[in-house]
Amino acid sequence: MTDFSQFTRRRFIATAGATAATSILLKGCLGNPPSDSATATQPSPAASSVNVNSNEAPEITTVKLGYIPIVEAAPIIVAQQKGFFAKYGMTGVEVSKQSNWASARDNIVNGSAAGGIDGGQWQMPMPHLITEGLITNGRKTPMYVLAQLVTNGNGIAISGKNVGKGIGLKISDPDYIKGFQKTEGRKFKAAYTFPNANQDFWIRYWLAASGIDPDNDIDLLAVPPAETVQGMKTGTMDAFSTGDPWPYRIVADDIGFMAALTEQIWQFHPEEYLAMRADWVDKYPKATKAILKGIMEAQQWCDDPANRKELVTMLSGRNFFNLPEAVLTPPFEGRYKLGDGKPDIDNFKSGPLYWKDGVGSVSYPYKSHDLWFLTETMRWNFHNGAIKDFDMAKKLIDQVNREDLWKEAAKDAGIAAADIPTSTSRGVETFFDKVKFDPENPEAYLASLKIKKA
Ligand code: CA
Repeated sequence: MTDFSQFTRRRFIATAGATAATSILLKGCLGNPPSDSATATQPSPAASSVNVNSNEAPEITTVKLGYIPIVEAAPIIVAQQKGFFAKYGMTGVEVSKQSNWASARDNIVNGSAAGGIDGGQWQMPMPHLITEGLITNGRKTPMYVLAQLVTNGNGIAISGKNVGKGIGLKISDPDYIKGFQKTEGRKFKAAYTFPNANQDFWIRYWLAASGIDPDNDIDLLAVPPAETVQGMKTGTMDAFSTGDPWPYRIVADDIGFMAALTEQIWQFHPEEYLAMRADWVDKYPKATKAILKGIMEAQQWCDDPANRKELVTMLSGRNFFNLPEAVLTPPFEGRYKLGDGKPDIDNFKSGPLYWKDGVGSVSYPYKSHDLWFLTETMRWNFHNGAIKDFDMAKKLIDQVNREDLWKEAAKDAGIAAADIPTSTSRGVETFFDKVKFDPENPEAYLASLKIKKA
């Protein structure tokens, strides 16, 4: 395994661009070196053992699932590559790399019949927003959330220009950030890759917990990763709310440091999800459960430390992430260098986890987590307040969240009863600043927050 120090800035920027614009990458315009471990195309390997009885045989064996080349996508890629989809009868699953979140959104609205996708990997609450037409120019495309794919694996990166200013999990000198207009002639500038979803929420929560208003005290906006990283290098971009392998790479290439990992902000937080078009699921319920069983098996496979090396080799391949294995290995081992004088982290459970974490099931899609995402949507008055109140939020969650299908699939797959949650709520959640979110009383959480637009 190559040491990360061998990766120069130039090489990093080249692959950074590639991750941002995979379609360009595939044409080779960026001159990105081929990775050591390119997998050929994406044939579904023959299933080692087919596990389908006639009652459960899927109505259709083909489906197109989108993914973004970040660690959250692992269960989708693994289920296809290791034959876990095929094992349950889904022999024709196509996994389709999406250029960015906006493309994934447009492709789900189109559906596979029109050259798009039937489902795939999503930040939250994209499935709810797409269902309501809130990020699709009013085109309502009902979706179902079927499983959570992953927890952890994200973080807040800060550019090297801001080293030594006490920017950590708790920001010791918020006036340094608020004072940028006076000292730098511009506001502190922070980016995420898609608005009103996870990485926007993580950085907003983190800033607000230290008394910084993300809507007034700084500039916070959606920027493609390559542009963000270039700006961090040249000193025009200060922060990047992002997912692995970016946090690792920004520190390894000396572009900046990590203020915090998301697992420090909210340990075992909900991250990204498997969701599909509702019309597809309604038409093919057995195929949906077969997909779920394949995902569950992949998630268990991903969480076995003995499989992580193979996972890194698979994901780093040219047809998937097209990255050097050395940049994926440390996060998959839970090893992070935070930089700026912070101690290194070396804990498997601080990295991405797919099946079980320190508090229970990762895969099961808790409705209480959907409620947090929609509560934050209300907190920041996203979409002009379209999520009006908790009644509307809960109705939308009941429509979109199909934890019932997850449970049926888990039982069919023989998952131990102890690993099948009995409540749709994970209970009270506690953040790093001791704030609590009680899903039974989201009103109290919202009322307790000092910085908000709601
Ligand atoms: Ca993410």
